[in-house]
Amino acid sequence: MSEVTISDLASRYEHDLAAPERCGFVLPDGSVVEVQNICHEPADGFDIAAEDLLKYEDNAIASWHTHTGTDCNLTRDDLASFLNYPHLHHYIVGSDGVACYAVEQGRVVRAATYSSSRHAEEHPLRAD
Ligand SMILES: [Zn+2]
Repeated sequence: MSEVTISDLASRYEHDLAAPERCGFVLPDGSVVEVQNICHEPADGFDIAAEDLLKYEDNAIASWHTHTGTDCNLTRDDLASFLNYPHLHHYIVGSDGVACYAVEQGRVVRAATYSSSRHAEEHPLRAD
């Protein structure tokens, strides 16, 4: 996964405080696909439709989702879902940056963290 894709994810989602959590996959060519969040409380978690999982889980290299207005630490639900997909990396886009998690020997570990730049904090992106 390239730095360009990470910064693209961050700039698109990390300041999106009013939004429901957004989620999707990263494909081998580095492109970022967004899929629908079907969680019944989409501001507080994410669920991916079975048809989207079927379509992407075997040819994606990573999943990603946003944490609306909170940091990129993983939640208990994230932990459970990441363990179901040990062949993928899992990116969480939080208000403090982007964290990359991986599953190693049955445990979820944080593989990398990409902090928000000062520039991004000083000039938050607005959807309008
Ligand atoms: Zn999460």
